Amino acid sequence: MSGVAELDAPTTGGVIEVFNPSTEQRIGEVADSDKAAVDRAVARARETFEKGVWKNLTAARRAEVLWRAADIIKERANEIAAVEAIDNGMTRAHARNLILGSCEMLYYYAGWVTKIHGDAVDIITEGGIMGTFQEYHGYSLMEPIGVVGLIIPWNGPFYVAISKIAPALAAGCSAVLKPAEETPLSALKLESIFRDAGVPEGVLNVLTGNGETTGAALAAHPDVNKISFTGSTEVGKILVRAASGNLKRLQLELGGKSPLIMFNDADLTRAIPGAAIGLLVNSGQNCCCTSRMYVQRGIYEEVVDKLAVAAKAFRMGGSEDTDVDLGPLISAKQRDRVLGIVNEGVARGATVVTGGKAMDRPGYFVEPTILTGTTPDMRLITDEIFGPVGSVIPFDDEDEVLGWANDTEYGLAATLWTENIGRAHRLAKRIQSGLVWVNCALAADQSLPFGGYKQSGWGHERGWKGLEAYMNTKSVYVGL
Ligand code: NAD
Repeated sequence: MSGVAELDAPTTGGVIEVFNPSTEQRIGEVADSDKAAVDRAVARARETFEKGVWKNLTAARRAEVLWRAADIIKERANEIAAVEAIDNGMTRAHARNLILGSCEMLYYYAGWVTKIHGDAVDIITEGGIMGTFQEYHGYSLMEPIGVVGLIIPWNGPFYVAISKIAPALAAGCSAVLKPAEETPLSALKLESIFRDAGVPEGVLNVLTGNGETTGAALAAHPDVNKISFTGSTEVGKILVRAASGNLKRLQLELGGKSPLIMFNDADLTRAIPGAAIGLLVNSGQNCCCTSRMYVQRGIYEEVVDKLAVAAKAFRMGGSEDTDVDLGPLISAKQRDRVLGIVNEGVARGATVVTGGKAMDRPGYFVEPTILTGTTPDMRLITDEIFGPVGSVIPFDDEDEVLGWANDTEYGLAATLWTENIGRAHRLAKRIQSGLVWVNCALAADQSLPFGGYKQSGWGHERGWKGLEAYMNTKSVYVGL
């Protein structure tokens, strides 16, 4: 069976150079697909959707194809992880974990394909609007939403791509995927993977390109039924406007400024490594990083000291190094932005406990950084940093810290460390975020929905909710 459509080589707006963030060396170039290329990809996806070459296969067959795609990815995990590492800068170990997480996502949604159905109800009314039929057989149908545009960021390219492709294909949609301009390489692998798994030609289309060109053309396209976007809140707002032309459905997984709250009774043997990894994973380039760490005054000094030691222990290294924990930031621009936020905070009175500088080596490396003495109006506390930088702030009581934790335009994730079970559940209810971790860091599973409150997003990925997001619901009344 044929597979994913090939990239459009002609009619592109130019090329995008791709660099390895840990060496600063150019490693390739990809097309900056223009509007005509987007039109062709959308038309291909539309044709497959209307012909039903994918959505009308038996559910068992579609489940089998998704399962096989996961098997192929698992077999090729090392090869894909190597590409992800040179493209994004993440360590190979982290890349491999994310690739295997992608397989779990596909296995999970392969399981759902055979279980998609609506509800059936017997209805007896006391007289409807027409007053004609009073008894009905009613049922609902779950139908794929149509052609979907999938726009993804650079911080976990392959994983985020599969997080969208898996439910989209499980629902029966046809798709056009646009990877980030910084990290397009692993997405190019999707062509052969889904072809080999058995996805018909044109159902999944991968188009490289810049956000302002390819992404904007996809977002505004009148024949796209939905955009699923993961990226910054700023671009999310642009997409809201772009989608208004045909009122296409929008799913937005956006930025965060996640708080961590550690009480005097926390088990520090777990809380310190948990807080360190929750801050520093992928060098802080993770939407859920807890860069505001509120620590109760009784353990504050101890936690600051121990966090600094833990942060220093992370081994920094490049895409070719083994036995490393953290890689570089994605670009020189991102490194300079992160250090700018640190320096601005320091100029206004914050203290660097550890880190605070770029590393003296090729690549966009920033040392794991812990600060104290911040104030609520500093960008260190208000802005998403997307780097290995966290501030530790003392607090006295629960209400005070809850107010600070919720005082943000974001609402993606929060972490609580306490041995008091009542307090843990009480705060989990009162925190304004879509995800709460209690005595753990970065836990994730396909079975629970993932999505943000406030300006961290609209809708959910994962679980049934993540699949439902790619479907329309139709209610049918049959008069008896
Ligand atoms: P970004 O918003 O700059 O770019 C994301 C994608 O949008 C890229 O593919 C880009 O090309 C595209 N884009 C840019 N401008 C566009 C436009 N005008 N129209 C259409 N598409 C456009 O984000 P980034 O810098 O790549 O990624 C970092 C951001 O992603 C952070 O804010 C982070 O929190 C967020 N993120 C969120 C989640 C989540 O699940 N909530 C997960 C990972 C990353």
